[in-house]
Amino acid sequence: MGEASAGNLLNMSLLARTRHLMARHGLRPVKSLGQNFLIDGNIAQRIASAAVDCGPSCIIEIGPGLGALTRLLADAEVPVIAFEKDRKLKTPLDELLGGLPSVQVRSEDFLKADLSAHLGEGTVACGNLPYYITTPILEKLFLASTPLRAIVVTAQREVVDRIQAAPGSPEYGSLTVFCEYFVECVESVCALRPSVFIPPPSVQSMAVRMTPRRRPPEAVASPEHFFSGLRAAFGYRRKTLKKALATAPQTGLSPADSDAVLAEAAISPQRRGETLSFDEFTALGNALAAWEEAR
Ligand code: SAM
Repeated sequence: MGEASAGNLLNMSLLARTRHLMARHGLRPVKSLGQNFLIDGNIAQRIASAAVDCGPSCIIEIGPGLGALTRLLADAEVPVIAFEKDRKLKTPLDELLGGLPSVQVRSEDFLKADLSAHLGEGTVACGNLPYYITTPILEKLFLASTPLRAIVVTAQREVVDRIQAAPGSPEYGSLTVFCEYFVECVESVCALRPSVFIPPPSVQSMAVRMTPRRRPPEAVASPEHFFSGLRAAFGYRRKTLKKALATAPQTGLSPADSDAVLAEAAISPQRRGETLSFDEFTALGNALAAWEEAR
């Protein structure tokens, strides 16, 4: 397979370019790294635009793969720092991005990377995520020391459904409430059928743009107690809240204490955690904090 300049690569369709880079560098998608390469140029453009339209001052990309999004993100003309765990992708990525001074490809595990130098008011994270580590990646992004301006990611449809679920629905769970704590709004960018990737994943996918809160929800008096209530409620989701709170070791509540805390939060002890709204989780966390303080 002959050498193609970066200019020639850009004249190819995303499918042809991806096939060319794989053949030329003898690459096969690595399943254990969640490698499904996007081959639909229109979808790549929609996802990259969702990030670029936020007016970022810096873009952090998670898992650039063969650069489907990276090349488009570079159009923002701000620093793009792309963390790719698979070292074998460095040469093809450099070939594609050749000479673009704003793009830095780091052959690093994103979960271990130090992001501090790249975080600021205008930092945007973007990526078609490796699905095997979606939740730890989101946690790392939510817990960034400076809240990101936006997080634009493609994830399994099922995970996006869990993030956007309503209380009482089968998808509603700790991930829903966890995300609501950190994220002000979630917008759908586009749906991705398996056929827009090579190889096609066995699941449907969805790209979303999340806007993290600039500061934690004001009504939450104590994050520690909020998350303690959340873990208890969903850790024992088949039990009533009264039993779940009294069973969860981290709360330290007896069944009678559990009744008192729930009365303080104005929540029936017979309800199950999976029916509680975000505001009710806030009330529960605040009641747990007040109970501990009064002890
Ligand atoms: N962005 C490319 C695209 O849209 O075609 C690739 C997406 S592919 C679903 C996920 C990418 O994440 C792969 O290139 C994979 O090697 C990379 N990856 C997997 N685990 C990673 C990790 N811990 N840190 C950084 N990159 C990782």
